[in-house]
Formats: sequence, C-alpha cells, structure tokens
Amino acid sequence: MSFQNPVFIPGPTNIPEALRRACDFPTIDHRSSVFAEMLTPARHGVQRVLRSTTAEIFIFPSTGTGGWETAISNTLSPGDTVLAARNGMFSHRWIDMCERHGLEMIIVDVPWGEGIPADRFAEILAKDTSHKIKAVLATHNETATGVVSDIAAVRGAMDACDHPALLMVDGVSSIGSMDFRMDDWGVDIAVTGSQKGFMLPPGLAIIGISPKARAAGQTAKLHRTFFDLDDMAKGYAAGAYPYTPPVGLLNGLAQSCDMLLSEGLDNVFARHARIAEGVRAAVQAWGLDLCAARPELYSNSVSAIKTPEGFNATDIVTHAADTYGVAFGTGLGDVAGKVFRIGHLGSLTDVMALSGIATAEMCMADLGLDIQLGSGVAAAQNVYRATTATAMKDAA
Ligand SMILES: *Cc1c(COP(=O)(O)O)cnc(C)c1O
Repeated sequence: MSFQNPVFIPGPTNIPEALRRACDFPTIDHRSSVFAEMLTPARHGVQRVLRSTTAEIFIFPSTGTGGWETAISNTLSPGDTVLAARNGMFSHRWIDMCERHGLEMIIVDVPWGEGIPADRFAEILAKDTSHKIKAVLATHNETATGVVSDIAAVRGAMDACDHPALLMVDGVSSIGSMDFRMDDWGVDIAVTGSQKGFMLPPGLAIIGISPKARAAGQTAKLHRTFFDLDDMAKGYAAGAYPYTPPVGLLNGLAQSCDMLLSEGLDNVFARHARIAEGVRAAVQAWGLDLCAARPELYSNSVSAIKTPEGFNATDIVTHAADTYGVAFGTGLGDVAGKVFRIGHLGSLTDVMALSGIATAEMCMADLGLDIQLGSGVAAAQNVYRATTATAMKDAA
C-alpha cells in the first residue's frame, strides 16, 4: 500500500491536510471552556450540514454502527415492531442489530441493486392501523451496492396514512456528499460517522435527533448507558461530556463543517455528482454494468461495478493493493466476488478520480479482462472537460 495514492474505498475517505492538522491537537482539560468553544461550533455545523433547524446534535466517540445503536436504544422498547428494507450489507447489519436488541422486524427483502420500495412500505404502513410499527429504518445510500434511495418517498408513504412511527435514516455514506434534508424529509433520526462525507479519521458517531424522537426517549425501555442521550445532554448543558471526549476529532469536525459549508452544500453535492458521472462514463466505456439497477438509483458517493460471470471481482481489489498500492472496495455479502467498488466521496478532485479509473483499467487488463487501456480514462476525461468548461463559463 502507498501512502501517496488516494484511496478509492467508500470510507474511510481521503483526509484533507487541513483536517489532519485540526485533529492533531494538544491535550486540553475537557472540562474547561476551551473545550466548550470547540464543541459548540461542531454541533452547530453538523446541524447545518443536516439541513435542520430543530434537530439536536449528539456526537459520541464511536462509529456509524454506534450511531445505529444510539438511535434504537434511546427510542424503542423490547418487542417493539420496526419496518425496514434489506437491499445490501449495511441495511442488513442494522436489521441484525435490531433483532439482537429484541425488536420485532418486518423485513422487506428486495434484490441487491434495488432501492427502498416506498410503495411496499406504504401498503404495510396503511394496514398497521393499530400503529404497532414504532420505527421505519431507511438506509439512504446502500454503500454495498451503490444505491441511493428516495427518503422523501419513504416519508410520503408514512404521511399518506398519517403513520406516527419514527423515521430513522442511515446517512453514513450520503451526509456531507449527497443531498440530505433532515427537516424537509421529516427525518426523526439521522445517523452518520466522521470518516465518510466529513473526511475525518474514524472515531465519531454523529446523530441528529428530532424533538419527536427525543420525546420518545421518555418511554423507551431498551438498555443504554454509554449511548444514553440524557446523560450526553446533561454533559452538553455544562459544555462537557459524561466521559472523556475525543478532543482532536471534535476539533476536526468543527473545521470539516466549516469547510463543507464554505464550499456550499449544493456545490459539494454537485462536485460529487460530476466526479461520479465521470466514473460511470468509464464503467460504460469498459462495457461493464453497475450493481445499481437503474439510473435514478445511482449513488454519487460509491459505484459498485459488476464483473463478468466466472471472474472473481475481489482479485481486482487485491491486485490493485499489491501491485499499484491503490485501495478499491470489495463486494460484501451477497455480492462478494461479483462486484468491486470505487468509492468517490469526500475529498476528491477530477485528477484523483482519473488516477483511480486508470488504475482499475490496468488491474482489469493485467487480470485478463477484455478492457481497452485508456477507454474509461478517455470517457471520464470527456465528462470532466465538458463540465469544467461549463463551470468556468458560468463563473465568467
Ligand atoms: C460505513 C457505513 C456504516 C458503518 O459505519 P461504521 O462507521 O463502519 O460503523 C453504516 N452504514 C453505511 C451506509 C455505511 O456506509
């Protein structure tokens, strides 16, 4: 592995130098006002990145997975019914966590490569007239398959029958890189981590909680200690944590939010869309297909690329690491060996993306796939040249 090359895994993502420096912070007294001055902008910044004015922001020393646990353990009770779709490894893992917590799951299985079926949700929710379903889980961007789902449509399915369940959204690989609207979509709990769109090292679970979800905590009986929102809220009221906070990461988070907000969220999303478009043009030029079934499901943060029948897609990932010092993502679960993934979220430029596309081409050619060297690079170059020219015309 080379430390010079960018990584093309869908998280952890490349870390901008300014954020690496921000995380390298001397020891301070985490009960002093210096810490409070760092925590407040981090929480405000996250609220703005979530496009919310009412969500309360909680940040735990953990990862996205800890964010899932925070969401369910603070709002639900053993035996509560939860509705979720399973369309990839991450939605599967959240469901598995719910089962291990003694929740009753209604699972809608769809083929991996499909999105959340909002119409099926609508039918199930409409039949639940006694409101047994207490929460609806939605994985906004299924990182295993490169599929983005329509969260507004899930909210629409709930509103169509005035269903009072909480809408909990895993935005781990979308928040900070793809359009995410906590308030507009009526999201009750949004979950992410530090190491994807926020471009930081792993180590933080970042959670937005609506007032309704917070109120649900009063009757929620699942056990919680480390992830207890009440304990954390008491800490925040005093500008502190109920335990020792990861000071460097929180300083990094405050600066990451500044970075995203000063670029402008719409510009950040447009940059991800452009870079993704170039990667998709390359995939098409290679004559390969995406795992995502249709264009409206294409993720702008990760592409899962199907390789021909009989070829082990993981060989590309191993070969890239061993031969060229470049990291791509392997296929997970049901699509292991069938897809390899190019992560294109976080701190990435056209030039970096082109290097990843070129490396993937070399690997596929080395391994005997029928790939014309330069074909994907040229297709992406055309996308980037065309859209850069437009952007410059707009600016002029
Ligand atoms: C990365 C990821 C997770 C898991 O996050 P960790 O930080 O590894 O715990 C959950 N959901 C999605 C969609 C992800 O991409």
